[in-house]
Amino acid sequence: MPSAGDTRWIEIAVESHPEAVEAVSEILDRVGYNGIAVDVPLDPSRPHVVKAYLVYDHAARFKVRRVKEAIGRLRAFGLGPVSEVAVRRIADEDWLEAWKAQCTPIRIGPFFIRPSWSDARDEGIPLVLDPGMAFGTGLHPTTRQCLEAVGELEVGGRSVLDVGTGSGILAIAAAKCGAAPVVAVDVDPLAVKAARDNAARNAVAVEVREGSADAALGRFDVVLANLVGDVLVEVAPALRARTADGGTLVCAGIVAEKEARVVDALASAGLRVTARDQRDDWVRLTAR
Ligand code: SAH
Repeated sequence: MPSAGDTRWIEIAVESHPEAVEAVSEILDRVGYNGIAVDVPLDPSRPHVVKAYLVYDHAARFKVRRVKEAIGRLRAFGLGPVSEVAVRRIADEDWLEAWKAQCTPIRIGPFFIRPSWSDARDEGIPLVLDPGMAFGTGLHPTTRQCLEAVGELEVGGRSVLDVGTGSGILAIAAAKCGAAPVVAVDVDPLAVKAARDNAARNAVAVEVREGSADAALGRFDVVLANLVGDVLVEVAPALRARTADGGTLVCAGIVAEKEARVVDALASAGLRVTARDQRDDWVRLTAR
C-alpha cells in the first residue's frame, strides 16, 4: 500500500484517433478533476492522447471502471481506433506539473491564449483563460474559426455582440482588439459567471447578460454566434434584429449537413451569406 501523500492522484490516458477525440473527451470529462487535456501530436499519423486526472480516493476505482466501460462501448461502436485505458498513480507534486504541462499557450490568428500562471512571453494579443475552459478541451475548431474571424474583421471602435459566449473568449478577444461596447449573452448562468470572471481577469469591459440575443439591447456592428445549427435556425430572426444595417453576422458551430438549413433561416430573416469557411466538418458563415 502506498502511504498517503505520495500517490494521491490518478492519471487516465486514452490514445485516440482524431475522429474519436470528442467522444473520448466527453467520457473522461465526467470523472476528471478540472476537465481534461488533449495532447495533439506534432506527427499527424500519431494518435491524440486524451488525459484526465482524478483524486485517488475511495470513489476512484469506481470512476475508472465507469470510464473503462464507456470506452469499451465506444470501441465497439467503431469510431476511429481508440486504445485501452491506461491508468497510473502519480505523486501529488507531480500532478500539478503534469496538468500545467498540458496547458501550453495556443496561438490563433493574432491571439495568444495562455493560462494565468503561464510565464510564456506573449506573442500577440494575450487572452488569459484558466484550464478547464480553453485548454481542458483543447479549444474547439469552431472557437478557433470565430477567433480568426474576430482577428480579420477589424472590430476596433465597433460594437460587438457575442451570443452564446461560454467562457467569454470571443467577447474578450473583440474587446482586446478595441471593440466597444462589447455585450455577451448566454442562457447558462454558469457561463455568465465564467465570462464575467474571465473578462475581469483580462481587464476588459464586457457587459455579460443572462439570456439569448434578445437580452441585449440595441444593434451591433458585429454579431458573433457560435451555436449549434438547430439553435441558429431558431434564433436567426433575433440575430438579424441585433445586427446593424451594414453590420456583419458570424455564425459558427454548424455541422456541414445542417448548413443549408441555416442558410435558409438566415435568408428568411433577411440576411445573405457572403463568406464561408469549413474546418473538418464545421462550417462558419458570414452574413450581412
Ligand atoms: N462562444 C464560445 C462558446 C460556444 S458554446 C466559443 O466560441 O467557444 C455555445 C454556448 O451557447 C454555450 O455556452 C451555451 O450555453 C450557449 N447557448 C446555447 N443556446 C443558446 C441560446 N439560444 N442563446 C444564447 N446562448 C445559448
